Amino acid sequence: MNDAIVVINAGSSSLKFSLYSVINQQLQREAHGQIEGLGKAARFKAQKRESGVSAERTFEKSVGGFGYHEGFSYLADWIRDHFHDALSLLAVGHRVVHGGADFGEPTLIDAAVVEKLEALIPLAPLHQPHNLEAIKGAAKLRADIPQVACFDTAFHRGRESVTERFGLPDELFLAGLRRWGFHGLSYESIASQFRQIAPGLASGRVIVAHLGNGASLCAMKNGRSVDTTMGFSVLDGLPMGTRCGAIDPGVILFLLTSMTPKQVETMLYTKSGLLGISGVSNDVRELLASKEPLAAEAIDYFAYRIIREIGSLTATLGGLDALIFTAGIGENSCIIREKVCRGLSWLGIEISAEANNTGKRCVTREGATPSVWVIPTDEEGVIAAQTLKVVSHRGH
Ligand code: ADP
Repeated sequence: MNDAIVVINAGSSSLKFSLYSVINQQLQREAHGQIEGLGKAARFKAQKRESGVSAERTFEKSVGGFGYHEGFSYLADWIRDHFHDALSLLAVGHRVVHGGADFGEPTLIDAAVVEKLEALIPLAPLHQPHNLEAIKGAAKLRADIPQVACFDTAFHRGRESVTERFGLPDELFLAGLRRWGFHGLSYESIASQFRQIAPGLASGRVIVAHLGNGASLCAMKNGRSVDTTMGFSVLDGLPMGTRCGAIDPGVILFLLTSMTPKQVETMLYTKSGLLGISGVSNDVRELLASKEPLAAEAIDYFAYRIIREIGSLTATLGGLDALIFTAGIGENSCIIREKVCRGLSWLGIEISAEANNTGKRCVTREGATPSVWVIPTDEEGVIAAQTLKVVSHRGH
């Protein structure tokens, strides 16, 4: 019987999971899946590595809904039914969006940690409560199993204070109004993969473009975050599927003269970005296929802001050795990569159409610098590795 780690990534209405076996301290993903529509009519989907078999089940809306608790019970039963002969649960690793100033490393969860994470809810009100609900749900089911929190903010800790500050009174900085940065688990994944792929470049000046439904850039020196586009919240920086990206604070003040704070929040998080500009979709595939002029405008704005922010972060780094695209859009859209790279030709970037269109890992013309790469992110793998490290350390 081998040890196993379950990785949980809990969102507002979905719970994604991955199950890893641990053999000689090596992780192998055995299954993954998700429960969508939590709180309503939920849908469970899972896929096993070995057999390739996929499972699917829909739960009708029950009285009180099918929430986290029911989701966890069903997931635990599914894992038991499919792996009881082979795997014994060692630990659960959770993605937690905000670690604040206290958590710069993955952390074993206990009551005191939960209390500190709850205190951070006002800093990430749309994400942190769901992460905590998942932690409590798992503890209720298996109080004997260690749980580890892995933070999206942690990768960005230790930056110079000027990169973290707003031009606000210092007491507000000390109270947590600072540019925390997010997507850290993805950046950790890319930094460690790039160290294997191109160690020379990885020790230099690198910008990673995490372009998914949420989008941000991270400037790295020697694999460590130097600056990033997301700030106090996951709204800042690049425009995203439904989030606005960087915005003049005067706009918010103006909106508040005719809208409630809740209405403004809903607009900035769910009705802005690509969806807001185009009025068509938050999905880049649909925008690229659309004939609506505003769909093209949304794509142009997205690319423009990425180019502008890469210019800004290049100045922070004092030059650029490599640019890496990752996440749903970054990994899959050769058109977005081409548009962004075209706007960066002044930096010396020369993309190879053949490499970019045929799924190559390095997509620049041979010998051109900075080089441009496409590397799939693996946030779950990072959470599993961090969780294993924490529980192994505890074991010693
Ligand atoms: P999340 O932030 O939800 O994890 P992902 O990283 O999975 O998001 O990215 C999802 C987005 O990726 C989709 O909304 C879509 O815009 C984009 N995407 C996925 N595949 C493609 C593709 N082939 N071409 C363009 N965009 C794509």
